[in-house]
Amino acid sequence: MPSSVTVIGEPDGRYYASFVVQREPEPLPACDREVGVDLGLTSLVVTSDGEVVANPRFYRAAQRRLRRAQRVLSCRQKGSANRAKARQRVAVVHRKVRDARLDHAHKTALRLVRDNQAVYAEDLTVSGLMRTRLAKSVADASWSQLLRCIAEKAARYGRTFAKVGRFEPTSQMCSACGVKDGPKPLGVRQWTCAACGTVHDRDVNAARNILALGRRERLNACGTGVRPPLEVAAGAEAGTRRSAA
Ligand SMILES: [Zn+2]
Repeated sequence: MPSSVTVIGEPDGRYYASFVVQREPEPLPACDREVGVDLGLTSLVVTSDGEVVANPRFYRAAQRRLRRAQRVLSCRQKGSANRAKARQRVAVVHRKVRDARLDHAHKTALRLVRDNQAVYAEDLTVSGLMRTRLAKSVADASWSQLLRCIAEKAARYGRTFAKVGRFEPTSQMCSACGVKDGPKPLGVRQWTCAACGTVHDRDVNAARNILALGRRERLNACGTGVRPPLEVAAGAEAGTRRSAA
């Protein structure tokens, strides 16, 4: 039974009933797969398994429609009936973008949570991406929404979701041998580790580093003190910086 119902009138002319419902957890059978997730700009996410989740295809077209609707609105005379109509049109396009993005986020999150016992992603509040101008873009809204969906579903299905502080430059470090290979401009999609010769896809490598960091933090949190030997140095450094932050 819903504990409360709120009716919300939206600017697109629709009314929504909003329910608050307590849902019982429905734990899924345990599995032994874990995944790291790299949040991207060209694609929504890339996983440590090499899976690429594209941004929803409607997106760019919808944004064009939104811009056009906003332009029309801006040249309608204030107080006119046409202006009211144009405003509603903007609201409708907004809603379509929002709904489609949310739907895509739910589907992506469900798949990640169902297929993996633990999902690790970057903590956006400390991510290097947040410090760029891109943070204000739609990409940021999509990422936060996706992470919220993953967190919800993980709680519901008895899975682990953990955010990993991006103190290590996950796109510079070789996920195979741990060597820091130096900065990689965004245009560099593929690189070869100078130390071990592994050829990396930039995003998959970052996702693998996120997976390794997430596992390590989880093990530390469990108090086992077990760390993969390769990553001891990186772990100590991350710990120091975290306490300083
Ligand atoms: Zn290497």
